[in-house]
Amino acid sequence: MMFVVQRHRARRLHYDFRLELGGVLVSWAVPKGPTLDPAVRRAAFRVEDHELSYGDFEGVLPAGRYGAGDVIVWDTGTWTLATGALDAGELHFDLAGVKLHGRFVLKHTRTTAAGKQEWLLLHKRDDHAVPGWNAEDHPRSVRTGRTNDEVAAGT
Ligand code: MN
Repeated sequence: MMFVVQRHRARRLHYDFRLELGGVLVSWAVPKGPTLDPAVRRAAFRVEDHELSYGDFEGVLPAGRYGAGDVIVWDTGTWTLATGALDAGELHFDLAGVKLHGRFVLKHTRTTAAGKQEWLLLHKRDDHAVPGWNAEDHPRSVRTGRTNDEVAAGT
């Protein structure tokens, strides 16, 4: 199954982390982005599922609509479930992307009174772990090589 991570510069910058599951892209917004650093846990907020076709979207969402801002395909590839289940609130899985590789965990930690699902995203200690690795140091689209600035400028 495929995964995609879109760097989305909306009102607040975040990375949309999406896993193909059950015919849709199950999605989390990760404010600081995924990391290969196994010492770091990232907050991830479950957001609405998206259609599979959205996974290659790169462009500008117009002002005035929800999510207005620019989007790049920051990483994509395939994912394989190792253990766990979405409904159980814990997924262990392997990514084979351009930037992201190795064993990751998504774990549901709490649901707020408003119904917002808070999860944690982390990378396990394995051969693909890289201490200090930061998504913001790898800013280009894996689809077109562009940055968010270049997409916003229409170049
Ligand atoms: Mn988004």
